[in-house]
Amino acid sequence: MSLEIDISNIRVVLVNTSHPGNIGASARAMKNMGLKNLTLVQPGEFPSGVAVGRAVSAIDILDRAVVVDSLQEAVKDCGLVIGASARSRKIPWPVIRPEECAEKAVTECRNSQVAIVFGREDSGLTNDELQLCHFHVQIPTDEKYSSLNLAAAVMVITYELHRAALKLSGDQPQVEEDYWDIEKATGEQVEHLHEHLERVLIRLDFHDVDNPRQLMQRMRRLFGRIRLDLMEMNILRGFLARIELYLENPKPGQKVRQKLQNKIESQTGEERRPSPKKEIRKRKDFADTALNKRQVNTMAEILEQASKNKRKISD
Ligand code: SAH
Repeated sequence: MSLEIDISNIRVVLVNTSHPGNIGASARAMKNMGLKNLTLVQPGEFPSGVAVGRAVSAIDILDRAVVVDSLQEAVKDCGLVIGASARSRKIPWPVIRPEECAEKAVTECRNSQVAIVFGREDSGLTNDELQLCHFHVQIPTDEKYSSLNLAAAVMVITYELHRAALKLSGDQPQVEEDYWDIEKATGEQVEHLHEHLERVLIRLDFHDVDNPRQLMQRMRRLFGRIRLDLMEMNILRGFLARIELYLENPKPGQKVRQKLQNKIESQTGEERRPSPKKEIRKRKDFADTALNKRQVNTMAEILEQASKNKRKISD
């Protein structure tokens, strides 16, 4: 999405990067987030084929990258310099979160040059380098391991820059109504679905009106969360109607039952089975269970079990 606020001039400064792959991956992250100015302070290896490979479609950022000898030189024209650091240092310095860093950078970049500085892979930024920064930004992490890969840190910070710019541009996330392909079902249509569903659940012996156990409220809550569109609702209504049709006309089931019965009898001939009667009964029972489409548990039983489990958890 193109931004009303131009953050492309916010500079990313990488100090003494030893792995060229990190330079390429940082360039990629920058391009993803709409930044273009990369400054490299004494890189270990640059230009580099590895960096180009990792940059993928952000080679233009590598092409225009500026290589300098010191951090002073990299930030000499900047009105705001923020250093990214995984560790708190001995001398307390104003430490900010990525969101705050982004807000400051995006606000300031309209009037002055802004740089975000990242340190070496093995030792980060020196205290002297950090003292050239107005603020230190720390990406919150698990306390046991706070050091991100350099390019991952660039990704997080530039993502926040992009997000802040979106926010300041007044770009709100698209509302579902604007892009959904089918109109939402109306309250009245959903009401008909609930009535239909209840009818079918009763006929299936899944819902006991004398012991409803909040089944229909729960179904209502489920469909309320989903906010069905018209087509989804019609699919469900069609599905329910088909169930009703089968309940009224169970012929197809009978046909299958007959087929299974024949198969059982052909497999349980006397010559192959010593006790055919017992075997037939066993197989018939199995077939009956398979064919009997009725849920083994009623809804009341399921809810009873669920509330028992809930009680167990809270005990
Ligand atoms: N081992 C180094 C960290 C090197 S990671 C140290 O302990 O300082 C390379 C660079 O990525 C860091 O210099 C910093 O600029 C950035 N970085 C990594 N993790 C970060 C974090 N949690 N917060 C802010 N920046 C971080």
